[in-house]
Amino acid sequence: MPMSGGFQTRLSSVVEKAVKHFGTPFHIYDETGIIETAQYLKRAFSGREGFKEFFAVKALPNPSIMKIMQEQGFGFDCSSSPEVMLARSIGSSGEDIMFTSNNTSTEQFETADADGGSILNLDDISLVSKVPIMPELICFRYNPGPRRRGNKIIGNPVEAKYGVSHENISDAYREAIKRGAKRFGMHTMLASNELNYEYMSETTLMLLSMVENVSNALNIKFEFINIGGGFGIPYRPEQKVMNIEALGNETTEMLNQFERKNGWAPKLFMESGRYMTGPHGVLVTTVINHKDIYRKYVGVDASMSSLMRPGMYEAYHHIHIHGKESYSEYETVDVVGSLCENIDKFAVQRTLPVTAVGDILVIHDTGAHGHAMGFNYNANLRPKELLLKTDGSIELIRRAETVTDYFATLNFDKDICLCS
Ligand SMILES: *Cc1c(COP(=O)(O)O)cnc(C)c1O
Repeated sequence: MPMSGGFQTRLSSVVEKAVKHFGTPFHIYDETGIIETAQYLKRAFSGREGFKEFFAVKALPNPSIMKIMQEQGFGFDCSSSPEVMLARSIGSSGEDIMFTSNNTSTEQFETADADGGSILNLDDISLVSKVPIMPELICFRYNPGPRRRGNKIIGNPVEAKYGVSHENISDAYREAIKRGAKRFGMHTMLASNELNYEYMSETTLMLLSMVENVSNALNIKFEFINIGGGFGIPYRPEQKVMNIEALGNETTEMLNQFERKNGWAPKLFMESGRYMTGPHGVLVTTVINHKDIYRKYVGVDASMSSLMRPGMYEAYHHIHIHGKESYSEYETVDVVGSLCENIDKFAVQRTLPVTAVGDILVIHDTGAHGHAMGFNYNANLRPKELLLKTDGSIELIRRAETVTDYFATLNFDKDICLCS
């Protein structure tokens, strides 16, 4: 339940007017909270020059949010051509964009290459020969295999499809050098929603040791290591926030030590998505129905097209009922949308204040991998996105999908192949 007290207070004073003005359902993001987290992150890693966060665009691919990140000096981690185009659309370019793809097509490399300067992060040694133009600066994603354990969402490194194997990593750089690469970075991403900072600390140490090996073997220096995203947020009330300060201190110390030993050290990059925006967004939805059969159901006007995580991962999202924060009458219910899929539930057997039709439900921590993951199954349309700005105003930053959008891909030129 890390929706901060600050956000809850800010939202609670405007939510009724916002519901009247914009209509539900909507995701609303807290600019103040996002800026505070960005500044906190920068402070925690300020022990060394050159720290940089590349916001993982897939977590919240909205230009208005990306502009906030840009103002904080952050770059963008993109994993598809349209994500690269989105970053470019707000004026990001060159080495502010890191292209971390996997199973990459040549077309995708071409988009990433188009301004000649985005950082390519290659997912396999076989891709070295497939990059149309080998850039000067190249990065590889390292997969340590059995040397590390992963966690639930990404899985064990040995089973994960990502990255260059331990056996191939030196050769990958060797081949890139043959094709003209002159500057280097090394990347990894092993965990998702990890709350234990020590896991991330181990990852930094692992990358530094790999960088040292490859650097000695090939007589090259590395400009950066990128420890990936995957920083967790406490979705459940009993969970604690990740200790970013401790991670900052430990990584600074590791880099200092690396520098004392080698006479140089790489910069530290990361590409957090969830940590940056997750707690700073909520899904606001209205109670429209109640149903009492074998279980009690609270029907709301949002469905899983707005938020896939509960249905996909059985993820917990805390819920509060606006205005009933200290209500004393409770019941145990499933909170459901309208899809013809029984996994279309925002909460299962959750004890909540008794609701009435018209009550406003606030589903927490939807600021990352929320709206972005939504889909159109069952012709459910994705909701709008709003931004609660630092001056207290609320701006529409994406309209809701319409039936016209749903029909848009049915509007095409006749195309028949006489293939027999
Ligand atoms: C998804 C992803 C991220 C962001 O993950 P979070 O859990 O949101 O921090 C970063 N890098 C890569 C390569 C990813 O695939």
